[in-house]
Amino acid sequence: MNTSGLDEHHHIENGSEFESLQVNKGVAEQPIVNPYLKDFSRFKRKTYTASDFVEGILKGDIALLSQAVTLIESIKPEHQSVAQEVIEKCLPYSGNSIRVGITGVPGAGKSTSIDAFGMNILNEGCKLAVLAIDPSSEVSKGSILGDKTRMERLSVAQNAFIRPSPSAGSLGGVARKTRESIVLCEAAGFDRIIIETVGVGQSETAVHSMVDFFLLIQLAGTGDELQGIKRGIMEMADGIVINKADGNNIDKANLAKSHFENALHLFPLPESGWAPKVLTYSGYYELGIKEVWQMIDDYIRFVKDNGYFEYRRNEQSKYWMYETINERLKSNFYNDEKVQAELKKSEELILNSQLSSFVAAQHVMDIYLNERK
Ligand code: GDP
Repeated sequence: MNTSGLDEHHHIENGSEFESLQVNKGVAEQPIVNPYLKDFSRFKRKTYTASDFVEGILKGDIALLSQAVTLIESIKPEHQSVAQEVIEKCLPYSGNSIRVGITGVPGAGKSTSIDAFGMNILNEGCKLAVLAIDPSSEVSKGSILGDKTRMERLSVAQNAFIRPSPSAGSLGGVARKTRESIVLCEAAGFDRIIIETVGVGQSETAVHSMVDFFLLIQLAGTGDELQGIKRGIMEMADGIVINKADGNNIDKANLAKSHFENALHLFPLPESGWAPKVLTYSGYYELGIKEVWQMIDDYIRFVKDNGYFEYRRNEQSKYWMYETINERLKSNFYNDEKVQAELKKSEELILNSQLSSFVAAQHVMDIYLNERK
């Protein structure tokens, strides 16, 4: 409103005493929303139903596959219920792939190698999904796998789908989400699945329980490289590959190969009947890549012939049922308000030596179970 008595074209500053000043007529403020855009609600992201997702996934629609995986990773109950329905409906179309787990310490060359393995897989006319399980996010809230540019060629390749690790939740929860994502990837026509994990000891069991072949990437060291590896991880491996066998590292890599071969001889023959092999290769210079994949193909043929392939997959399905139950029980228990209050009290009593850990545990369990009677 103009209170000066002058209209806006007669600003006092425009008088002759203010020579160097000139106040111009303002420009009307633009409306925030484009007036031509009458109905902008249709530009909002469409909410898809479970059937929309399934239809898209079965057609190989990567955008919908990706969104469905996001729903799997979400903790919102409404997302979870759609996700579970999508998984259920995709299940009959899943299973038709070769699932390979790859582990190795940070710096072993996992991303470089997966890029090379992956391009080899795509050249054979297959479709590849790379999923990851990063246990570091649980402990440090940071990730070892996720935060660098990885797999440069694969990330822009047409028949590859790369998905970083789900970041929220316990290792068990993260692994279960990856296990569920496999179903959707397979239904979308991905016939090769790589599950990558950091070789730091916690996540290998989870990965082992969702793959057909478990590959351990090692580096040639100073001769004592066997010391650093947990025996359990070596026992899980269906194949051990020594990376960076290039330049003047070749001799060391061959030496490491024989160390590993000797060590493997001491283990009993695995249930599969397949004696794990050790190979050397170079992910960076792409030497020996085909041979690594040939080993995996040989293994798959071997276990398909002797029935172990089916057996292992069935065992894994059972494992995931029990894992899911364990996880649900645990979160149900610890999210119970009475349990939370009682745990707090018990902690103090234990610290004051007024109660033993075992009696306290029994007491809290009783409260939880009595509530459900
Ligand atoms: P990740 O942490 O296991 O994923 O390992 P990266 O793939 O990021 O590799 C770690 C480092 O090792 C990088 O600097 C790579 O360039 C290097 N590297 C990976 N593969 C090879 C290889 O075959 N030969 C050599 N000489 N270096 C490699």
